[in-house]
Amino acid sequence: MNESAKLVGVETKGLRFLQLIFVDINGTPKGMEVPIVRYEEAVEEGISFDGSSISGFQGIEDSDLIFKADPSTYAEVPWEGVARVYGYIYKDGKPYWADPRGILKKTLEKLEKEGFKAYIGPEPEFYLFKKNGTWELHLPDSGGYFDIVTLDRARELRREIALYMPSLGLVPEVLHHEVGRAQHEIDFRYDEALRTADNVVSFKYIVKSIAEMHGLHATFMPKPLYGFPGNGMHLHISLWKDGKNAFIGEDGLSETALHFMAGILKHAKALTALTNPTVNSYKRLVPGYEAPVYISWGYRNRSALIRIPAFRGDGARIEYRCPDPGANPYLAFSVILLAGLDGIKKKLEPEAYVETNVYKMNEEARAKLGIETLPGSLGEALEELKKDKVVRTALGDAYENFVTYKTGEWDEYVSYLEANKLPLETKKVTEWELERYFYI
Ligand code: GLN
Ligand code: MG
Ligand code: MG
Ligand code: MG
Repeated sequence: MNESAKLVGVETKGLRFLQLIFVDINGTPKGMEVPIVRYEEAVEEGISFDGSSISGFQGIEDSDLIFKADPSTYAEVPWEGVARVYGYIYKDGKPYWADPRGILKKTLEKLEKEGFKAYIGPEPEFYLFKKNGTWELHLPDSGGYFDIVTLDRARELRREIALYMPSLGLVPEVLHHEVGRAQHEIDFRYDEALRTADNVVSFKYIVKSIAEMHGLHATFMPKPLYGFPGNGMHLHISLWKDGKNAFIGEDGLSETALHFMAGILKHAKALTALTNPTVNSYKRLVPGYEAPVYISWGYRNRSALIRIPAFRGDGARIEYRCPDPGANPYLAFSVILLAGLDGIKKKLEPEAYVETNVYKMNEEARAKLGIETLPGSLGEALEELKKDKVVRTALGDAYENFVTYKTGEWDEYVSYLEANKLPLETKKVTEWELERYFYI
């Protein structure tokens, strides 16, 4: 065992390199590699780097940043033969305001002040593509929801992914074919929010890596194909207090859970800017594909934005069905949790309860129940974000930066539509989107 390994109590098994990983504003993992003998230094003093070209970070004027490894995240990547660790970013000795992981950490400290610990379990979905010269929208199998053998040619790949997951600290729970042809889902065990955000980053990395080994590409793009179901990332959320699930009520959900849910419903429009942060995200949020469109909640109802799963005891939780796997999990979790906390603090009561299919209601019926609609585009979501102080504040000093960056993305898309004489409301997936988001 070398010195650095002793420090953090891990055995490095002769690995020679260590990847220091953080995410940019989009949630894309970025990193540098150092010889593993620098591990101790990475934990204690941090490793300096130039953050000038990282999306959403400081410009070139002032970009000296420090990466400090968080040893609790140390893991070995078996197929790469290297170790990797996540961490926090510092600037001038202080946590760096644009570091998404640092932002989530701050959020969790706010929850802790109120005595809460947040647990999140995600359901990420993805499509597999095959290379045929260039990446074509080629579907390697013809299975559908829960199909098994013969129709499901990717089953061995899913199993292989699941077998690699524990090496990066994820516990696979359910593997299945999704509704779309060549669409899959692998769920892993819920955990404390920061750990789950790390796990989402690790999961996408594992899935893409294993797919790549088989000459395939896994895309988490929210809606890669028009007319096919989108990729969602439902989030199962619960808050715990004094070691107990605070969402358990005498008869179903507790008051705390209902207030928390009311907070999310109230801020849902602004939240979408973070939970569905790409132009393409809004091509998924359309009727007909089990993706939410209306701001409502219910028990069994899968057309609702928030569903209360059937549960017993500690499984008490809400399922937020809006987020997609193109979200930066650190930022998305931060805003969701603080919107929920706002509901708890203000004792908000949830409205818009539905047990029937909201898609089948007409506008009048929805209006009667107080059911509103989610933003229809990234542009609209950004307008909602600007109006929502709670969600804006949840991003801290990164707010301005986020809006500027995402407005740029939206404007670029609008120019593309104009240049190609496409209407603003187009629900078709454009070349621009495929180019920009196919690899997220
Ligand atoms: N793919 C759907 C979505 O976009 C979810 C389908 C499901 O898991 N039931 O959210
Ligand atoms: Mg599922
Ligand atoms: Mg699913
Ligand atoms: Mg679900």
